[in-house]
Amino acid sequence: MIRTLLLAASVLTLAAVPATAQPSGGRQQVAPVLATADAVDPHSFARPREARVSNVALDLSVDFAGRTVAGTATLDIVRRPTAREIVLDRKGYDVQSVTDGAGRKLAFRFGPADKDLGTAFIIGLRPDTRQVQVRYRSRPDASALQWLSPAQTAGKRQPFLFSQGQAIENRSWVPTQDSPGIRQTWSARIRVPAPLTAVMSAPSEGVAGSFIQATLPTGTRTFHFRMDHPVAPYLIAIAVGDIRFQQLGPRTGVWAEPATLPPAARELVDTEKMVDAAERLFGPYPWGRYDMIVLPPSFPYGGMENPTLTFLTPTFIAGDRSLVSLIAHELAHSWSGNLATNATWADFWLNEGTTTYAERRIVEALYGPRVARQQVALGIDSLGKAVDDASGPTGADTRLHIDLRGRRPDEGLTDIAYEKGAAFLRTVEANVGRERFDVFMRGWFTRHAFQPVTSAMFLADLRQHLVRGDTALERRLQLDRWVYKPGIPDNAVPADRQAFAAVDAAVAAFPRAGAPVAAWAGWTTDERLRFLQRLPRKQGAAQLAALDRGLRLTDTGNSELIFAWLDLAVANRYQPAVPALERFLTSQGRGKFVRPLYKALAADPSWGRPLAVRFYRQARPLYHPLVTRDLDALKL
Ligand SMILES: [Zn+2]
Repeated sequence: MIRTLLLAASVLTLAAVPATAQPSGGRQQVAPVLATADAVDPHSFARPREARVSNVALDLSVDFAGRTVAGTATLDIVRRPTAREIVLDRKGYDVQSVTDGAGRKLAFRFGPADKDLGTAFIIGLRPDTRQVQVRYRSRPDASALQWLSPAQTAGKRQPFLFSQGQAIENRSWVPTQDSPGIRQTWSARIRVPAPLTAVMSAPSEGVAGSFIQATLPTGTRTFHFRMDHPVAPYLIAIAVGDIRFQQLGPRTGVWAEPATLPPAARELVDTEKMVDAAERLFGPYPWGRYDMIVLPPSFPYGGMENPTLTFLTPTFIAGDRSLVSLIAHELAHSWSGNLATNATWADFWLNEGTTTYAERRIVEALYGPRVARQQVALGIDSLGKAVDDASGPTGADTRLHIDLRGRRPDEGLTDIAYEKGAAFLRTVEANVGRERFDVFMRGWFTRHAFQPVTSAMFLADLRQHLVRGDTALERRLQLDRWVYKPGIPDNAVPADRQAFAAVDAAVAAFPRAGAPVAAWAGWTTDERLRFLQRLPRKQGAAQLAALDRGLRLTDTGNSELIFAWLDLAVANRYQPAVPALERFLTSQGRGKFVRPLYKALAADPSWGRPLAVRFYRQARPLYHPLVTRDLDALKL
């Protein structure tokens, strides 16, 4: 990908930096840092226009007893000749020393602490400094790292470690400039206790599944990884545990604990076909292999699109491949999000809205237009709810380009970014036709491969390559309204009313006809979800009992369905569902499921809150810090 070289576009690059500033051998690409005001990241202390990290080389030992990673991070830097210092982001790791490429000590200091952002880590530069080495140790409570005891794993015999960098958590264990607009190549040498295996979001130096460099006599195994494409630093990820690998296709495979591997591999059987379908839509897959790792149940997200190695919740395993649109989503991020990445979290929709649109195109290619139309309709439902949650159609947070200054970037992680973003792209597609739109999207990814992007860049690119001065089209699209104004513009493509015709009829008939037992057996998961989500929120105990009996909701192995059922049960204080609720909340920690259930319970002081207190006491050690941070606020 030649386009990513430094000085690809002079306005976007670090002025006064010679193109030859590549200290460690020139193998890496250096991506530009954007210069415009809308690309300045309020969630990073870095001043990349003065001095920036271009490559990170980690050399770390993983210590499960102390719950730390320790070693060195060697940073290649690109700087203005006049720069006196480089500013990194730091949240908690302890710094032992900082030296330059020649091993000479460099002065450093920390700025004032911010509870969300951490502190600036300011390192003094000599006139000739091109490399900085930080010797450090992460803290046991590093927010990106979750350390699981053997009891918290499926196998129960070995501990487990995994990281979650998005949005600004990697600054708790990787000393670098933690901003998505400052892309970096990286490598790692990782030592873990035998017999554990380390995997990371980069190609291993060797063949997948057989890349152990050495098992030392001390019982340590060493693993090597190298990412030669510049990536946003939140995409550096690690997992360590008793994990095995199974090949799925020529360039796809899955890692999981031995007990989880067979069901995971069965569920993921379509993955290679998904990569093929995605390539037909968006161009060649640019990362080499597409592997996945199924993590223990405390993983806080559905999936995380770490390059070459998607991290997955085990709750997507339904036994019937009915929840694999999650894989289509994470795979689509290989283009939208990982190839062209939001420069700041204000433009998170460029990652997630584009991916949600792309996900359904992949689903359509694999499972047909009907399934895709249904998922679009469910998305439009979620969008309506997200608008309500954001204070209605005039709410400032219903804008795609959102103002997150002074707030945690995670506050932008709503269905506005995902579903309003996807609705915007569907609207453009509907206006210009699919053929032209596909050419544009492919071009967007190619033109911005391995680069940071902003909303303004997207609109400019769209105007240049798609609108091309067609003033009638420009008016019809309402581009600025979609991106910069609150609410949903009136040209949004509505949901297909026929998508769920039979299900909606069953919802309407429910008060008279009861649970649609016969139809339910033939419905897809999306149809079942639509039914449960569309039922009136107020139901009597007898109706709920009939639903559960007829549709066997408590016994379903499908996490999305059990969630929809428990959500309805909690809203109606349905006591017979409490054991299932307890099982669900104490056996997995996916934020999408546990956050709303605890919130609903906590809001009901006499019935729900005591239950929430009991479950949370039991389950809190299972949950990820990103989830407990929110749930602790409920004061359970
Ligand atoms: Zn996503």
